[in-house]
Amino acid sequence: MSALPNVEEYVICPYDSAHRILPVRLTYHLTRCAKNFPSAKLVRCPYNSTHLHSVANMQNHIIECPNRSAAERFNLPDVLPPVEPRAREFLIESAEDWDAEPPVQTYNPAAHCEKELIIRNLQGAPPAARRAFRESERRRFREKNQF
Ligand SMILES: [Zn+2]
Ligand SMILES: [Zn+2]
Repeated sequence: MSALPNVEEYVICPYDSAHRILPVRLTYHLTRCAKNFPSAKLVRCPYNSTHLHSVANMQNHIIECPNRSAAERFNLPDVLPPVEPRAREFLIESAEDWDAEPPVQTYNPAAHCEKELIIRNLQGAPPAARRAFRESERRRFREKNQF
């Protein structure tokens, strides 16, 4: 008995066969590796989201997947996973827990200006145009505030 993890417990990374990953680290690893191999068109196994294969290999994998029998009793899939994995969806889905960044609040400056009646600046416009724009903004400002 050894305290070290059994070599057979490691999983080979689908992106780079030189990567050996412990199953508990796999989701995290795949998220990072997907960024390093953006051209790798891998699809996810419907029975286990950490099984990634090319489309051709996935057709065989689905037949042999060790997670299949358990899932099949409840749900018989009749379609293969989509051919083109949507990369952004993949990253968002597997970005859970590990290194999770705080959610970024969406901020729409234009909508904010409209709402708060802030006088906007025309970026990069010639001074005369900027002046005319500022004037029209001031008028707009005054008109809105009269009611
Ligand atoms: Zn890897
Ligand atoms: Zn599988």
